[in-house]
Amino acid sequence: MNRTKTYLSKTVEELKPSGIRRFFDLAAGMEGVISLGVGEPDFVTPWSVREAAILSLEQGYTSYTANAGLMELREEIASYMQKSFGVSYSAQKEITVTVGASQALDIALRAILDPGDEVIVVEPSFVSYVPLVALAGGVPVQVQTLKEFGFKIQPEQLEKAITERTKAIMLCSPNNPTGTMLSKSELENIAQIAEKYDLLVLSDEIYAELAYEGEYTSFAAISGMRKRTILISGFSKGFAMTGWRLGFVCAPEAISQAMLKIHQYAMMCAPTMAQFAALEALKTGRTDVEEMKKSYRRRRNYFVQSLNELGLTCHVPGGAFYAFPSIESTGLSSEEFAEKLLLAEKVAVVPGNIFGESGEGHVRCSYATSMEQLQEAIKRIGRFLERRQKA
Ligand code: PLP
Repeated sequence: MNRTKTYLSKTVEELKPSGIRRFFDLAAGMEGVISLGVGEPDFVTPWSVREAAILSLEQGYTSYTANAGLMELREEIASYMQKSFGVSYSAQKEITVTVGASQALDIALRAILDPGDEVIVVEPSFVSYVPLVALAGGVPVQVQTLKEFGFKIQPEQLEKAITERTKAIMLCSPNNPTGTMLSKSELENIAQIAEKYDLLVLSDEIYAELAYEGEYTSFAAISGMRKRTILISGFSKGFAMTGWRLGFVCAPEAISQAMLKIHQYAMMCAPTMAQFAALEALKTGRTDVEEMKKSYRRRRNYFVQSLNELGLTCHVPGGAFYAFPSIESTGLSSEEFAEKLLLAEKVAVVPGNIFGESGEGHVRCSYATSMEQLQEAIKRIGRFLERRQKA
């Protein structure tokens, strides 16, 4: 036989590499760049949390933990979920500690999907949702939100996308990249649809700690939804712990035990010292989280108002640390805007189309950077726009 053999899986071959990388690589080769590109806190993990990890090493806790994670940590997570969000999960049976929210998303999808099952992905969405659904054998069905509705999904849109094969809806509130946060009544509307069509909801609540407007509602806290929810969360964003790679997933026992099967074969357990750090974060880190949150809120207020004053219209994001302004007035595509801004003024933003078609005409700016940098970025963006108007 003479055909060239390809060793790669078709699914993997068909996956597009994340478009964010191209911009990071471009920016990495330049000096003096202000990066509004990276989706992570600019704060270092609180000292008490780092110290707890160091202590765990000094005490020689260097072996595996239980597959689902340290029992003490799971108990602390259960009590945190109860106190902060009013949802109750069994530490023994319904909580798994994972390697970031990323792994939680992966095992959640793999635990529920058979080949060809459809998952509704509310768009613009975090870059990994669509590839993870495909890797789990599912079919992602993207539903586009509109800026006219502040990027909030409308129940009719959801209903239209449902077919016989639909198994779950993926939600993220507060959202990456739009910062949009859904209110309790908006979540209730989605809950009605989940109930009507007997669907699961994968609720990515990684930004739950960073909610600035009104009270945050967990999807699992909506009446009747606990049994339909796979709640994904973690320490990366709220607790400024991206590098520790620690997240968790809560779900009803049967789903939780299915996820644990995958986790035990594919991962064994999350890193032990990171688990000790997370335990401390929950016990004593809340004051730091509150301080960080106050700081993000100040920056959001300044940055979003400044973008609007420059003519880049931007809704006020209810949470997370992203602004998602429209750049349509410039006549540029989101990729052109990001590239030209970077080359002309050394400000790195992420083109909105990377998060799905509905992100076109927008760019994602992370305001998790110092006020001075934000002020300088606004000055540079202003100069960029002025020059384009004159040209
Ligand atoms: N979910 C969303 C919406 C995110 O924005 C991110 C990171 O950017 C993740 C999940 C992944 O989080 P982790 O670092 O805990 O894997």
